[in-house]
Amino acid sequence: IRSKLPNTGTTIFTIMSQMAKDQGAINLSQGFPGFDADSVLLDLVAKYIKLGHNQYAPMSGIESLRKNLAIKTEKCYGFLPDYQEEVTIVSGATEALFAAISTVIRPGDEALILEPAYDSYEPAIILNGGIPIHISLNEADFSVNWDRIKSAVSFKTKLIVVNSPHNPTGYVWTAEDLKILADLIRDRNIFVVSDEVYEHITFDGRAHLSLLGNEELRKKTFVCGSFGKTFHVTGWKVGYCIAPKELTKEFRKIHQFLTFSTVTPIQFALAEYLENPDHYQSIQEFYEKKRNLFLEGLKQTKLKFSTTQGSFFQMASYGHLSKISDQKLAELMCKKLKVACIPVSSFYHNGTDNQFIRFCFAKEERELEEAMNRLLRLE
Ligand code: PMP
Ligand code: GLN
Repeated sequence: IRSKLPNTGTTIFTIMSQMAKDQGAINLSQGFPGFDADSVLLDLVAKYIKLGHNQYAPMSGIESLRKNLAIKTEKCYGFLPDYQEEVTIVSGATEALFAAISTVIRPGDEALILEPAYDSYEPAIILNGGIPIHISLNEADFSVNWDRIKSAVSFKTKLIVVNSPHNPTGYVWTAEDLKILADLIRDRNIFVVSDEVYEHITFDGRAHLSLLGNEELRKKTFVCGSFGKTFHVTGWKVGYCIAPKELTKEFRKIHQFLTFSTVTPIQFALAEYLENPDHYQSIQEFYEKKRNLFLEGLKQTKLKFSTTQGSFFQMASYGHLSKISDQKLAELMCKKLKVACIPVSSFYHNGTDNQFIRFCFAKEERELEEAMNRLLRLE
């Protein structure tokens, strides 16, 4: 068979998690919480399973979850989407991203991706016959380089994929970023896929600025979110897409043949859990504590870093210590120091290696402390 994704291998997240397991290392590589979800949420799932909500959910998601998600959206971003026609529940943000990209991209269309970038955007573009155009973020602070984006836009540009808070750099978009994006796509036939899975994880008083909060941008944007990230249940694979009616109509046609619908009892549980705003408003403080603890430890090591603004990731650089590749460093760190991380070159289509590694700090305190102790031995 001739591969449709010849340049794609097994994702680095799978590789590093497996290596961590084989080596008995502390796994700060793949992004998932090392602790359980709120027992209130777990009990709700058990409740709805026992109540017999175990058959197919409606294709677009159960009504109460769409409704409560719309209400949360209004509370957070000042915009109330129409839960009947603009909100769709899907099987993880991964599905939302794939279906949204598929809705827009036709063969020959160009799609802009800002690198370093999460790994699922490019394959979705390629499988739809699109052409990914890679644009690097600013090297100094990973902010968006709008000049590079402006010069990459052509009459073939159909889509721009954005992600804030950003994986892996933690950069959080500013009001200025949103304004420039709005100016850029005004009067152009360009859509936006906005990956906002870390919407509730921003630090130092920063607010997440959803594209849904911008009247102009939301008319051309698919906002993709993940309950897995927000509520520490990445294994449940429940996410959503919020987009204008005409876009949602087409999005749902694709969703119905990717998965048709999403796990029923969990949707009921999430719907009830969302009724208490504390459940999502407390996430920010929860993760800021973890980040601060992690950074206390990281400061004692020889690694260099700029404090992450959002997401549960922190990047660090080691170029002043060694010239080995980031892949090699990640392997050695896992095998010798027993701490697993992600080499950031994996987030570039051409493997650009700026000697950065990424840590996930969504872990128990003692695990973070132990990992940092081990990293003290890094020379
Ligand atoms: N986007 C980003 C930036 C991510 O880090 C992840 C990873 N978990 C996803 C999307 C996928 O989310 P989900 O697990 O809900 O499919
Ligand atoms: N988003 C997670 C990360 O960046 C990984 C999810 C996955 O393994 N696909 O680590």
